[in-house]
Amino acid sequence: MGAIFRPGICVLCFAALSMLLSQNVRHDSMLEGVPSGKTRVLDLSYAISDKLVPWPGDAKFFEATVNATIEKNGYFTRSFWMLEHYGTHLDAPAHFPPGKTTVDQIAVKQLFGPAVVIDVRAESGKDADYRLPAGRVEEWEKRHGRIPEGAIVLLRTGWASRWPDVQKYRNQDAAGKMHFPGFSTEAAKLMIERKVSGLGCDTLSIDYGASEDFAVHHLSLGAGLYHLENLADLSELPETGAFLIVAPIKLEGGSGGPVRVFALLP
Ligand SMILES: [Zn+2]
Repeated sequence: MGAIFRPGICVLCFAALSMLLSQNVRHDSMLEGVPSGKTRVLDLSYAISDKLVPWPGDAKFFEATVNATIEKNGYFTRSFWMLEHYGTHLDAPAHFPPGKTTVDQIAVKQLFGPAVVIDVRAESGKDADYRLPAGRVEEWEKRHGRIPEGAIVLLRTGWASRWPDVQKYRNQDAAGKMHFPGFSTEAAKLMIERKVSGLGCDTLSIDYGASEDFAVHHLSLGAGLYHLENLADLSELPETGAFLIVAPIKLEGGSGGPVRVFALLP
């Protein structure tokens, strides 16, 4: 029996090893190809201004003031003020559970990782209260293999097409409750099991809009993951094969902050 199966196992081992090696080689050459333009890079962050969609309830969210002009001072500078959770931003683990990592303390290695893209545009188009079920993640894994440790999982709902229309993006009902899709706690539990680095979405929040308890926030931030919210259009990202570089502002003690997210395309 063993003699019969051993060559099969060797072939499998070799296939797995060469897949791993080719993935590494691919990601290495992807980085090298950036300056020459051989590797395409998507910028998944919105430019910051006072025209973005804020979370409801804050009267003030961004302000920029000119401090010096070329004409008057010979140089140009501004100062700015903004909420930590405004525009494309990162939620540090400390955003919800007490005593957790602040934005400046997130391990650098957690900010680089393969992108796992879960496309729920069809489901979200039919149901604005859609929550990604764990089964949909398992279905992704059937097609692409197990979600690797250190991956950054992005939920592609298509909501970016509504940006920056406040009405359409928040999608509030008469009572003020928002309606946009998000992750379910079951899906979040699975991501924690897979030891992913972070979760991201093209909506205002990782939790669906109508959430009152922010259960996914408590769960995944509590497990040390970070969140990327209000990511720009994800439509050009493949379901697997892209590599993400996540660069949040290094704000001491911050609950989160603006983030620049780059996707290197295969
Ligand atoms: Zn946030």
